[in-house]
Amino acid sequence: MKKKAAQAKKTVKKSAKTRVKTPKKPSKLLGRGEPAPVRVENLRGKAKCVIVCDHASNRVPKALGSLGLSKADLKKHIAWDPGTEDIGYYLSKKMDAALVLANYSRLVVDLNRGEDAPECMRAESDHIRIPANEGLKPAQKKQRLAEIFYPYHKVLNAQLKRHIDKGVAPLLLSLHSFTPEMDGFKRPWHIGVLWNKEEGIAKRLVESLRKNNPDLRIGDNEPYSLKASNVTKNTISTHAEARGLPYVIVEFRQDLVGTKAGARKWAEIFLQSLVPVIADPELYRLKKARK
Ligand SMILES: [Zn+2]
Repeated sequence: MKKKAAQAKKTVKKSAKTRVKTPKKPSKLLGRGEPAPVRVENLRGKAKCVIVCDHASNRVPKALGSLGLSKADLKKHIAWDPGTEDIGYYLSKKMDAALVLANYSRLVVDLNRGEDAPECMRAESDHIRIPANEGLKPAQKKQRLAEIFYPYHKVLNAQLKRHIDKGVAPLLLSLHSFTPEMDGFKRPWHIGVLWNKEEGIAKRLVESLRKNNPDLRIGDNEPYSLKASNVTKNTISTHAEARGLPYVIVEFRQDLVGTKAGARKWAEIFLQSLVPVIADPELYRLKKARK
């Protein structure tokens, strides 16, 4: 009996010891040697324009493994916008504009969504399950926002403020690419220009692209309309529309821009039509006090 009681005491003591263990510090999502969440190229670019690529990369932090996806799935459009990084570099150089690029996949955290939206860390995309995003705990979501989402938007904001502080309303040029086929529908457009509240620049750009390239299909709020979408918060709404800054959102078809040569070719086609549209000095006039 005595022995048993002593054993029980020992067990209690042990579990009590386990219970009072000091909680570990929350582990960091981005480990040593991994890239920062955001990269800026040509940060002193003279153009009154900031180019942004929210979906430039399909990288996943080591701590999250492969998100439970195969290598093949991580190369698909669900993880990133292939081609936009190369297009961004080309335009940044040609226009002498700063370029802000994301360094992590949209499946880790989608920088082009509101932080509270389910699509910000989606558990499914284009009929593919994202196992690591199923049942995410608030602390896990918070960590992705703190280490990737907020630092990214802070850097983008600083780039825009650089111009605003000098009394200039910079153009925010947002680059994306779209999958050639969605739900069995082959998308015929080569380039699409998207817009929501402000259609002026978009309409002029669509007209310019169509005039210069009569053989191409240019999407006016296609392959999908931002006006009709239920996305209420994204990079453009936060940084441009909320402050009345001029903006352009362009979508390139991924089968055209998947190689360096393709990206360059389509960036040049786009730039030729963009230049006359954004030459109007009126665009860059600050119309009201902006933060
Ligand atoms: Zn995109």
